[in-house]
Amino acid sequence: MLKLAGFLRMVLGGMAKRPAPSPARAQTRPSGIRQNRGKVAFVGAGPGDPELLTVKARRALEQADVIIHDRLISPEVLALAGPRASLVDAGKEGFGPSMKQEDINDLIVAHARTGAAVVRLKSGDPTVFGRLDEEIDACDDAGIAWDIVPGITAASAAVASIGESLTKRGRNSSVRFLTGHDTKGFADHDWRALASRGEVAAIYMGKKSARFIQGRLLMHGADPATPVTVIENASRADQKVLSSTLATLPTDLAEAAMNGPALTFYGLAPRAAAAVLNDIPQQELA
Ligand code: SAH
Repeated sequence: MLKLAGFLRMVLGGMAKRPAPSPARAQTRPSGIRQNRGKVAFVGAGPGDPELLTVKARRALEQADVIIHDRLISPEVLALAGPRASLVDAGKEGFGPSMKQEDINDLIVAHARTGAAVVRLKSGDPTVFGRLDEEIDACDDAGIAWDIVPGITAASAAVASIGESLTKRGRNSSVRFLTGHDTKGFADHDWRALASRGEVAAIYMGKKSARFIQGRLLMHGADPATPVTVIENASRADQKVLSSTLATLPTDLAEAAMNGPALTFYGLAPRAAAAVLNDIPQQELA
């Protein structure tokens, strides 16, 4: 009797552990025909430091036939590509300074149709300001299976570098991820809500729109002394931190002459200890 109970436990336990089919796969691979095609993995490359890649992302890079990557991917991450992978830079060359989205979609689909294991490598997390949906739609239209491998988004890496939290009890119970500009130009947001005390926003692509954002927030009553921190090349050896305020942001930014990717935190200042850490060259920390 005891033996039978043990056996049943084993069988049922085993069944419970079997993973359920993922809805994304079920949706994108409904027929046998599709299984003969290549597959696309939308992989998050993180902010630049290769140690911030997920194990899954690293394995995808090692096993890829083709890696179609963005301009922002660090050379250290690209160096982890497997020996059979051919690298395609979708950020430049052949298609002008910046490849059109439709051309990137076509490229992904064309490679997958040859039966290749395609990695579409995107900086940070592919689901954050990554134009991921257009590429997924292109795969769906072509009947190509895909999945998403999340990555560490720039906001997470940048906030870690200043020793702060994105949310904090008693300060902010929500955080916004904003883009400085969208397809129509400078992006509009709920400035009135953002202007309230204690609000925190991680602003992507916010350098060029700094003066616009400053103007809108001040117009809606934000305190000019609100801390604003800009982190360039977060997690990379050449990371730079600019500690500013809403009142002085555009002039401080102009003086700092930052050319790399930068994340702007509205409502956050570097914690004192982190500010000291930032004075130490990164090599000394390694
Ligand atoms: N999917 C990406 C964001 C792509 S939009 C992510 O999740 O991080 C590109 C913007 O991301 C850049 O203009 C910059 O604002 C930010 N960014 C990307 N990498 C960064 C880095 N290492 N340091 C600071 N900001 C970064």
